[in-house]
Amino acid sequence: MLKTNPYQLLQSVVNLTSTRDLFALETCLITTLQEIISAYSITFYEIEDRNDYHALNAVVRVNTQNPVDGAVQEENQLPLVMEQDASILNSYLTNTQVVVKSRQHSGVSVIHPVQGINKITGFLVIDCESLVQKDQDMAAGFMRIYYNWLQLINDNERDTLTGLLNRKTFDAQIEKTLIAAHSEKKRSDDIDHPDYLAILDIDHFKKINDKFGHLYGDEVLLLFANVMRQTFRDRDQLFRYGGEEFVVILKNIPSDMAMTVLERFRKKVESQIFPQIGNVTVSIGYVTIAGQNLPSTVIEQADHALYHAKEHGRNQVCSFDTLQAEGEICPEVAYSNDIEMF
Ligand code: GH3
Ligand code: MG
Ligand code: MG
Repeated sequence: MLKTNPYQLLQSVVNLTSTRDLFALETCLITTLQEIISAYSITFYEIEDRNDYHALNAVVRVNTQNPVDGAVQEENQLPLVMEQDASILNSYLTNTQVVVKSRQHSGVSVIHPVQGINKITGFLVIDCESLVQKDQDMAAGFMRIYYNWLQLINDNERDTLTGLLNRKTFDAQIEKTLIAAHSEKKRSDDIDHPDYLAILDIDHFKKINDKFGHLYGDEVLLLFANVMRQTFRDRDQLFRYGGEEFVVILKNIPSDMAMTVLERFRKKVESQIFPQIGNVTVSIGYVTIAGQNLPSTVIEQADHALYHAKEHGRNQVCSFDTLQAEGEICPEVAYSNDIEMF
């Protein structure tokens, strides 16, 4: 049953559409719904594409003030039925309709697919006593507002040519990554799984433009971005940093794997046939994100490694950490701009 008046509703829409951060948007969506409709709990699940299978992560959940008995509470902690069986989850991935399932002890779970830009990216699950049509219509309406707003945020965050995240988003994201790298949790849990920043710069791109024209140059950028999307994992963040320069933040990766992953990408580009143009190569410089205080330091370090790759024949991957350990880059130069921020 609806619990709110038109003024509160209006306020909820205002709150939702004043949010720019995607995680905050999801939180705002479910806390808004919690205020408006009657439910035991509302959970936002995100689908994670892990190459050969899909996993479902509960990103954010709210429980209402409604009395929740122990059994229901316990059930709420369990993963959704879909998570236990990949085949059930797969059948949901193409279904854009709302699905209603009986819950184990009482009530129903109303499962709203979350429509992302080109695919279903998650599910909003409303656990409630019964299916009240007005509540579900309200939930569906708010899901549409969420989707429209998501598209606006997405357009604002992305580069129009390649669809990768843009420079502005990079600036915001690298700050967050550095703060996380400095936090206690990251230091203690993930010391062997740090984040890396890699700069990917297409070799002799100017020659491609000069020889084939700007339009073909643009086509190369687009295909290059597609190879990036195919090679890196969903959780890695892919940016178009500038003209023919791209940045990847490799998230939480075993420390001996970064070179392997980047080398795999370099080889993929090398073996790709670009229509009309033929072969294109890329040089890559990368660095571990750990201990740097400023985004500009991380970029400079990866850039040093990239410069080294360019100077030593291009079409190769260089690690700043390795070059520094081998004395190829002196630490004073590399850290010259870094001042204490945290
Ligand atoms: P290097 O191997 O040293 O990286 O050489 P390069 O030619 O790739 O690098 P340089 O920085 O000299 O040239 C980059 C060129 O990229 C120059 C610029 O005209 C072109 N460029 C920048 N943005 C775009 C774009 O959006 N589309 C196209 N087609 N070209 C672009
Ligand atoms: Mg270049
Ligand atoms: Mg360049």
